[in-house]
Amino acid sequence: MSSALGFETLAIHAAQPPDASTGAVIPALHLATTYAQEAVGQHKGFDYSRTGNPTRSVLEATLATLEGATRGFCFASGMAAEDAVLRGLRPGDNLLIPNDAYGGTWRLIARVYGEIGVSATPVDLTRSDAVASQWKPSTKLVWVESPSNPLLQVADIGAIAEIAHELGGWCIVDNTFATPYLQRPLLLGADAVVHSATKYLGGHSDVVGGAVLTSDPALCEQLGFIQNSAGAVPSPFDCYLVQRGLKTLAVRMERQCSNAAVISDFLAGHPAVSRVLYPGLASHPGHALARRQMGGFGAMVSFVLKGGEAVAVETARRTKLFTLAESLGAVESLIEHPARMTHASVASSPLAVDPALLRLSVGLESVGDLISDLSQALG
Ligand code: PLP
Repeated sequence: MSSALGFETLAIHAAQPPDASTGAVIPALHLATTYAQEAVGQHKGFDYSRTGNPTRSVLEATLATLEGATRGFCFASGMAAEDAVLRGLRPGDNLLIPNDAYGGTWRLIARVYGEIGVSATPVDLTRSDAVASQWKPSTKLVWVESPSNPLLQVADIGAIAEIAHELGGWCIVDNTFATPYLQRPLLLGADAVVHSATKYLGGHSDVVGGAVLTSDPALCEQLGFIQNSAGAVPSPFDCYLVQRGLKTLAVRMERQCSNAAVISDFLAGHPAVSRVLYPGLASHPGHALARRQMGGFGAMVSFVLKGGEAVAVETARRTKLFTLAESLGAVESLIEHPARMTHASVASSPLAVDPALLRLSVGLESVGDLISDLSQALG
């Protein structure tokens, strides 16, 4: 299918024409674990469902199209997707990681890869020059989150990818917060995009999944090999749910972004709030870059309470429509306390989060109701 088609069209039609034998308008859910062979080694492209599954193949092809990649590889979770990329690292290798990376990413890199002698250097990726100055002869890649979790910092993906390439390494972008609807890192120069499909791609808090999209032949070979050899693959039903979520990604993002913009303005004017972190605010240090690099500012909003940790924890307890829960990116709005929840694993590390910080994942509810909820919770 021509990639000149619009995003919404591709999300609904790319790699998923009506079924040739039945006319069914959505891809079939193929539960088979194995596939008949006409003769030894002669089959229709599938021999065992860990290695390849038709429902997964459709999702991999759709996601690759949406991110502008030649190949897609789906995994059982975002962490399994990250792990498949990091498996290319060897003892003695180094990587650069954002100084406010998702806590689970830090845990995987510092504790699992750290154990086998891979070192990680936290870097302020809002300063692209820091990438060059922190790069060591042993550095193999820079890991980018933009906007980052939970501080919503914006990194210049094009500039960082250029530096990484000049220095002979890879630029890998976790595009979970932005989604390909708002930002396409591969077109900006990145080598691979990683997703927690659990978030906006699935969009309904009912599936855990992950994906890596890339056009780099060496990465494709590594990812295909790890996917099959380590076997952290998603079930066909999980793939079906993400595929279904993708069809409404564009409209969900539009409304969630506009709700988030209204909420960030409300919070910015609230006397209990000392700082709002949302790239859509003109006061955000990454605002101009986000405007250039993204098609919208996203639907994640973090804010700092003047009253400190106790007030932050109490505010999170008091909201009624904003459910107090981990995760993000679905139709329902969520609130969480990163220091004690999603980012507890970075406590006392260089990535430790301000305990007065709260993070919102803004959903699709009526924005007036969301504001009333925050207003009563903030007191
Ligand atoms: N990347 C980001 C930015 C995340 O927020 C998360 C989870 O919260 C992950 C990766 C990991 O994804 P999963 O929970 O699907 O393993």
